[in-house]
Amino acid sequence: MTTSARETGSRDNAMSPVPAAPGPAWLDRYDVVVLGGGPAGATTAALLAERGHRVAVLERSAFPRFHVGESLIPETYGTLKRLGLIEKLRQSAFPKKYSVQFVSESGKESRPFYFDEHVPAESSQTWQVWREQFDQMLLDAAIERGAIVQTQVQAVAALFDGDRVIGVRARRRNDSSETFTLRCRVLVDATGQSTFLASRLGLKQPDARLRMASVWSYFRGAHRGSGKDEGATIILQTPGKKSWFWYIPLPDDIVSVGCTGRLDYLFGDEGLSAAQVFERELGRCPALERRLAGATRERDYLVTRDFSYRTGQGAGPGWVLVGDALGFIDPVYSSGVFLALKSGEMAADAIDSALRTGDLSAKGLGGWQPRFAEGVDRFRRLVYAFYDPQFSFGRFLRQFPQHGARLADILRGRVFEPEIEKMFRDMES
Ligand SMILES: Cc1cc2nc3c(=O)[nH]c(=O)nc-3n(C[C@H](O)[C@H](O)[C@H](O)COP(=O)(O)OP(=O)(O)OC[C@H]3O[C@@H](n4cnc5c(N)ncnc54)[C@H](O)[C@@H]3O)c2cc1C
Repeated sequence: MTTSARETGSRDNAMSPVPAAPGPAWLDRYDVVVLGGGPAGATTAALLAERGHRVAVLERSAFPRFHVGESLIPETYGTLKRLGLIEKLRQSAFPKKYSVQFVSESGKESRPFYFDEHVPAESSQTWQVWREQFDQMLLDAAIERGAIVQTQVQAVAALFDGDRVIGVRARRRNDSSETFTLRCRVLVDATGQSTFLASRLGLKQPDARLRMASVWSYFRGAHRGSGKDEGATIILQTPGKKSWFWYIPLPDDIVSVGCTGRLDYLFGDEGLSAAQVFERELGRCPALERRLAGATRERDYLVTRDFSYRTGQGAGPGWVLVGDALGFIDPVYSSGVFLALKSGEMAADAIDSALRTGDLSAKGLGGWQPRFAEGVDRFRRLVYAFYDPQFSFGRFLRQFPQHGARLADILRGRVFEPEIEKMFRDMES
């Protein structure tokens, strides 16, 4: 545990008269305080408020806010339905996504994996979303169900009584000096890559096999497929599997295009700008050059790096981690938002019963996490295979055609079925 966390621990417990809360709607004590209003936090808050618990969400940014991660996968359907959002998504301008397609390092284009070929259900179609709008929809769902949401409020310290979390200290972002305290029975950390609690408690474990970086931007007028392929995600690898690009069609003729590769490879040449790195990799990917011919870039290049990690412990007395605050693997299979929604949903169900029984222990709040971790691990092993220069999915499927359906299952997000292990036995032998 870091010094600051200890400081905010017992001393705060003893003193804090509950302070100037930031508005008349505020209580000083909640059943649940959720830190972060992204997909994981909004889902947890919505489902708990719906069951009558007193829930507050503290979100650092002004909403709507920009976020990378536009491609959904079909298994988001269940949680989105529970949140009442399927009809809104159907009526949105978000492109419908029916498939994902891979282009190999030699430029060979795979047949698209159409999700409805294996599961012919309406849930097999998903969407490519602007995260500003999608995340706002989720947060609105939390507000509609009774959660109190305060944006531009940043959590600065967790309050401990011994090893039990009993609240949080926060500040308004436009007022750096004044802090206030909220007490709660359960603190949910949904702060994404900021990993508020895991960083303070020393629980963050970077994944040494996935020290990656991404550089990306948004292009207008790039190639778009037709019919069912118009909203397809395309993953294009470069020679030697040194990097790969995502290609995600968005509304208004925009495509999100990003390059991911090992940090030391992508940014190893000191002095290269993000634009130069992107251009260098684009030059190694003729299948992408063709798709971008004639397109114009709509904004500056963005960069993020070193984003893959897990946490040694996902829950403790009075606290639980969800979404990226619990861990993040890699963007290649677009699993992040699905895992954020799913963990938010599983956590909400666990917290609901924990609040009713009074068992606010690590087990009471995080009993869902071992099963969740198994699913995450299946994505992770498929990510390792993707980056392995010796491994080829084409070759694997030619050798083991019976695993095609299982691979498609993972690509749509069905990672919690133990059946899938059979595929890994052949893949990893
Ligand atoms: C390069 C890249 C590409 C990606 N592409 C995809 C994709 O195509 N599809 C996909 O599904 N996923 C993708 N992801 C992952 C996806 O974006 C995340 O997994 C997802 O946003 C996680 O949701 P979350 O709610 O856990 O966190 P976030 O969406 O990050 O939300 C966390 C929120 O917490 C707030 N916050 C942080 N600190 C504090 C604090 N101290 N106090 C209060 N609030 C705080 C932040 O402002 C933020 O709004 C990608 C990730 C990367 C790095």
